[in-house]
Amino acid sequence: MSSEVSLPMPVVFFGHGSPAIARETNAVTRTWREMADAMPRPKAIVCISAHWLTRGTAVTAMARPRTIHDFGAGLGADLFEISYPAPGAPELAERVRDLLAPTPVALDTQQWGLDHGTWSVLMKAYPDADTPVVQLSMDATKPPAWHYEQGRRLRPLRDEGVLIMGTGNTVHNLGVMDWPGRFRPPYDWAARFSDHIRDAVVEDAPERLIAYADQGQDAALAQPSPDHYWPLLYVAGARLPGDRASVPVDHIEHRSVGMSSFVLSPAAPATSLAA
Ligand code: ZN
Repeated sequence: MSSEVSLPMPVVFFGHGSPAIARETNAVTRTWREMADAMPRPKAIVCISAHWLTRGTAVTAMARPRTIHDFGAGLGADLFEISYPAPGAPELAERVRDLLAPTPVALDTQQWGLDHGTWSVLMKAYPDADTPVVQLSMDATKPPAWHYEQGRRLRPLRDEGVLIMGTGNTVHNLGVMDWPGRFRPPYDWAARFSDHIRDAVVEDAPERLIAYADQGQDAALAQPSPDHYWPLLYVAGARLPGDRASVPVDHIEHRSVGMSSFVLSPAAPATSLAA
C-alpha cells in the first residue's frame, strides 16, 4: 500500500518587466513557462500585483475578471487587444478575506480585474487561461512588515492547491531606465541592491527583506516607490520552514528594471527505504 504525501504548493515571485513583453517570446518568457510546468498544477492562483494599490485591502471576487490595460498608449495599440480570459474564483476570494482577518478585506466585484502585472506573466506561464485567478490588492498606507504579515496569513492556501504569486520587480526605477539599452550592464546600485535581495531570499532572511530600506541610497534608487517591491514581501511571508529557493531569472534589463524571479518550494520528504 502506498500513501501519497501531498506537499504544499510552491510560492513564486515573477519579475515582470514592461508590458511589451506580452508580444515577445524570449528567454524570460520561456523560463516563466518552465517554472509553471515544473510546479504542480494549481487549482487556482492568488496574485499580488505591483499594479493594484488601494487604501484598505480588496480581493477580486467576480466570476469573470476583466483584462485591464493599465499602461500608456505609447506602447502600441496591439497590447490593448490582449485578453487573458481566466475565470475568477469568488469562493477563493472569500477564503482569502477570512484568512486575512482581522484585516478588513473588501470583495471587489466591480472595480478591478487582472492588471498587466498579472496577465503579462500568466499569458506566458499559463497560456490556456483556464486556471482561476484572484488578485489581492496592496494597502499603500502600510509599512513593509505589514505586507509580510499578510503573506504569512495566506500560508494555509498552499495546502489547498492554491498558488500564491507576487509580480513586481526587485529593482524598479523607470526614471533612469535606459529604454534602448535593454541589455546594457545595470547601474552599480541596481546590481548591488538586486544581489542583496536575491541573497536574502536564498538565505531565507525575511528580516532583511522587510528592512530593505537600510540599504540606504541603493534602496532609494532601486525602489523610489515601493509598489514593485511589496509583492515580494507577500511571497516571503507565505514561505514555509524548509522551503528551498530557486532563482530561475536573475538579471536586470534597461539598467534599472530587475527581472529576478524566485520559486520557494517545499523539500520533498525523505524517500522510505521500505522494500
Ligand atoms: Zn509593473
